Amino acid sequence: MRRLLILFMLLSLSACNLVEPALTFPTASPGVTLPTLLASQPTPTQTIVAATATASSQPDGDPFSTNMLQLPAPACAQPTHQQTEGPYYKSGSPERRVLIDSNTQGEKLLVAGYVLDQNCQPVPGALLDFWQADASGAYDNAGFNFRGHQFTDEQGRYFLETVVPGLYTGRTEHIHVKIQLPAGQVLTTQLYFPDVPENNNDDIFDPALLVNLEPREGLYVAYFNFVIRP
Ligand code: FE
Repeated sequence: MRRLLILFMLLSLSACNLVEPALTFPTASPGVTLPTLLASQPTPTQTIVAATATASSQPDGDPFSTNMLQLPAPACAQPTHQQTEGPYYKSGSPERRVLIDSNTQGEKLLVAGYVLDQNCQPVPGALLDFWQADASGAYDNAGFNFRGHQFTDEQGRYFLETVVPGLYTGRTEHIHVKIQLPAGQVLTTQLYFPDVPENNNDDIFDPALLVNLEPREGLYVAYFNFVIRP
């Protein structure tokens, strides 16, 4: 009787293996599962933030703590000034927060801050599309160098790793950005840097758009909070 029981168990296990191919389930209902996954899938930015909450597993995943960034407290007396888009905007930039690699020429620059609504509340999921000249003052109009879009994280923060933009004829150093709130409002503006002599000779320059610049060894950190009226 015991032998029969063991034989029966072995046969049952074999049968389970035969009728349980791992790929059957996903292919059986792709139409149901795929849209559900896409709809609930967090953006890469949100994924990084989620990983931050459990920090130790991905210590390099959070640029705010990795770079010891001290974001300015929200101060929202005035909405951020609008500025001209200029001639070099291109839609379709890749989603990324890092615009440089180890071969990029220029002075490394980190830019960070909040996107806030007129009630001074951080706005998660706001779209920021950055574009700028390289360190020599040239825009990449054929490709997407020094162009990238991202979404604010669940705390309403953005982070950009780039280089200090170069000068070009008629313009001081500046970074362009187009911001869209989840509700649809769009702000197009530019960021400027303090103590740049050309600021005084640029008709578009606006001192209200100066970043708070922190020089560090080998790089600069620029803080700026965007305040957008719904
Ligand atoms: Fe420009």
